[in-house]
Order: sequence, then C-alpha cells, then structure tokens
Amino acid sequence: MKAILLHQHGAPEVLTLGEFPTPQPGHGQVLVKLKAAALNRLDLWVRVGWPGIKLEYPHIPGADGAGEVAALGEGVTQWQVGQRVVINSNLSCGRCAECLAGWDNRCRDWHLLGETVRGTYAEYVVLPEHNLLALPDDVEERLAAAAALVYHTAWHSLITRAGLRAGESVLVVGASGGVNLASIQIARLAGATVYVVGSNAEKLALAEAQGADYLIDRSKDENWSKAVFQLTNRRGVDVVVDNVGTTFPQSFRAAAKGGRILTVGNTGGPKFEIDNRFIFSKHLSIIGSTMGTHQDFAAVMGLVFAGKLHPVLDRDFPLSDARLAQEYLESNQQMGKVTLAV
Ligand code: ZN
Repeated sequence: MKAILLHQHGAPEVLTLGEFPTPQPGHGQVLVKLKAAALNRLDLWVRVGWPGIKLEYPHIPGADGAGEVAALGEGVTQWQVGQRVVINSNLSCGRCAECLAGWDNRCRDWHLLGETVRGTYAEYVVLPEHNLLALPDDVEERLAAAAALVYHTAWHSLITRAGLRAGESVLVVGASGGVNLASIQIARLAGATVYVVGSNAEKLALAEAQGADYLIDRSKDENWSKAVFQLTNRRGVDVVVDNVGTTFPQSFRAAAKGGRILTVGNTGGPKFEIDNRFIFSKHLSIIGSTMGTHQDFAAVMGLVFAGKLHPVLDRDFPLSDARLAQEYLESNQQMGKVTLAV
C-alpha cells in the first residue's frame, strides 16, 4: 500500500510517500481502507520526537481516519466488508481494571493510533473491531475523520470529567485549535455561556460563528483575565478550558471560586510556574484528561452525525502532500481541521 513513512525524527522533509506492506487483520481485528485522514498537533510532536518516544521504523503518523471495512480478521462478528466507518484512535486492552470500569482511556496498556502504533496517513490501517463506529450514509468520511479526536477529547474533558451543566459559564483560552473549537460548540450545546480569548479578530470571528457569547481579543489586552472578571461582574467563570498551559496564572484569576480548570494539553510548553495561593483560596480544581472513553466516542460522534456539532474544516491535501499539510498546521494559519484525502 501507499503510505507516508517516517524513517527518523525531524523537520517536515522526513515525511515521504512510499510503499509499505498492507497490514493483515488478526483475531478480532478489521482492515479499514481509508478515504480520509485528519491532522492533529500530536502528529507534529511525533514527527519531531520527544525524550523517551520509541517508534518502530518506518513509522506511519495519523490518529484520525474514516473509510470502509476492507477485510475481517477471525472472530469478527459485528462488521461486514464494505461498511463505512470512522476510527476511535484510543487503543486499550479491554481486560485491565480501568478498562472494565469503563475508563478505557486510563488503560494500563493504552496506546494512541499514529503515536506509538502505525496510523492513518496510509491507504489501509488495522484496528480492533470495537475501535470502529458505523458512519451514517449522509456523513462524509472527511467530516467524520476531522471530528473524531478533537470532539472526543473535548467531550471527555468538559462533560465526563468536568460534569458541565446548563447555566454554567465556560472560558475557552484560544479560538482556533481543533479541541478549542469543539469545546466552544459542546459548551454551547450543553447550555453554558461561552467566553473565548483569541489572538486576533479573524480567529475570534470564527469562535463567534461556533456559538461563543463573549469575545476577548488578547492582541488588544494581554491581561485578559481582568476582562473576564469585568464581563462576569467580578465573579469569574465556572470552567476554564486551558490547553495552552503557560496561561494557567491568568486562568486561575479568571476562574470563579470553586472553578474547574480543564487541561488536555500544553501548546505553550509543558513547564510553567503557578501560584498555589489561587488554588486553595479560590477552591479551584485542576482536571486533566487525555482522549476519551468508548462511551464518550459513541455519544459525541452521535451528535456530530445528527448535525448538532459541526467540525470546522480548513484545507484538504492529497495524502502525497502530507508534508505540506503538516507545514500548514505548523504555521498556525489554519482555521479548523486540516485533512488528507487518501
Ligand atoms: Zn486496559
């Protein structure tokens, strides 16, 4: 099969189109012929590498994908060849205590497709049968692939972990990343009032189109926590979605007493200083999570399929141009999801 192969870490040039043996589905596994893949910031980090990452070369990047069932491994009963599917990229053992308790994204042997396991920048990928969800006839593969990881992540954080309720207020730090845009839509759908801090007017307009109620332009006022405090009548917000990390000091200030600070990543860097006095004196909770459970995936993708949540699509590149697609994502010009046509 054709695939984007990574033989070493490095700049986008290390991504090359090549031939790789088509994987064969084992017991309980399904071979999926991909039609669309979507990029995530994770793909860039995997390409660059980090201390301790161990890849089996050549590696194939990509967590998100959708296509059709091409072959069935032994023992697969719930799928038929030709069925259209979207991929849940969370790989769990299904047997450990965490998996059995329904927290499969806390599995002791957890892997993410495209991170330590070969992923979706390819014509074919093999997955356990329970990592697929059937696509309704009217939902395009590209849309489903673009939604999967970011909506799954945002849903698990806001709904499953933070227990967001109607009537609460949510501040999203960042206006254009995939998880942030999904968070804005999910918070609105849940009945929350949504505040967004963004870096420029164009990105804030995109946030507004997703349902944000209050927009704060940090290019005009770096001290955005003060703006949040003023907009909330000096109360602060119930929930802050902060996937930047280095912005935690401002997020603590913007939170109401008893507020929850949610984090699924740290685009601004992994290490930063925090002032603990905010945490205890304001009764703050910091809630971390990674990806989501099988149950979350079915729930949030059901809302995408029903048209209640709308992934924002940016550029679509042919698979062979994965390098250009990653350069585009790395440039931070994107307004929504960048996808690959396989
Ligand atoms: Zn497990």
